[in-house]
Amino acid sequence: MKTAARRLIIAGNWKMHTDVVDGASLVAGVIERTESLALAADLVLCPPFTHLTVAATQLSGSSISLGAQNMHPAPEGAFTGEVSARMLLTSGCRYVILGHSERRTYFDETNESVNGKVRSAVSAGLTPILCVGETLEEREAGRTETVVDEQVRRGLAGTEPETADDLVLAYEPVWAIGTGRVATPDQADQVHGHLRAIVADMFDDDFAGRVRIQYGGSVKPENAGALMARPNIDGALVGGASLDASSFEGIVRAGIEGP
Ligand code: PEP
Repeated sequence: MKTAARRLIIAGNWKMHTDVVDGASLVAGVIERTESLALAADLVLCPPFTHLTVAATQLSGSSISLGAQNMHPAPEGAFTGEVSARMLLTSGCRYVILGHSERRTYFDETNESVNGKVRSAVSAGLTPILCVGETLEEREAGRTETVVDEQVRRGLAGTEPETADDLVLAYEPVWAIGTGRVATPDQADQVHGHLRAIVADMFDDDFAGRVRIQYGGSVKPENAGALMARPNIDGALVGGASLDASSFEGIVRAGIEGP
């Protein structure tokens, strides 16, 4: 069940879109349109790495938080091209998206490598947004619950509610990401309920009742209200529609005000 204890959390995943100048305009537009709404929901922007320090300056003094889209699990070292949790934290990030399906698909991330990142993020003081979700083939084979079960159990292995207190999960069915094909509120809520039950089984009911679970996959202002009105859907992870300040505002308003 959705409880008052679970504040909505709506995050924009910009992926590899916008240059630094366009990104700064988008941050400014989002601040202008959503700053007052950030009183009713946690809002997070996740631009590319190159934008983080500029965005952090723009967002300082606002209630909108900053997140990154990936990180390396090691604290530092000879890993050319990689970025650590501490680098993100000291660039102004509070959140980091981990295990996005694009990273699993194009960069060979596994539940084990994602788990290393989750543990490293938590120990550095970053809040992971752990993404899970099934492919169309897996859904059609009736394997949705098995797939997300494994992603959550292996992704969160070795973490504890005490340190991962504000952990966020994102259910992102792969077939709905960037396709315009959105899960129905019933489909999404059913999986979210299952995810919450897994967290209860792994940890305890109290933590499961607090953990926030976002839905992601073709969220738009038109479908966001019905999704976030569901008891187990505590927010949205938004890709394409977060690249337009007015669409992002529309999604935030729909989440707060309902369908
Ligand atoms: C995403 O990339 O996390 C996502 C959900 O993308 P979109 O909203 O474009 O489907």
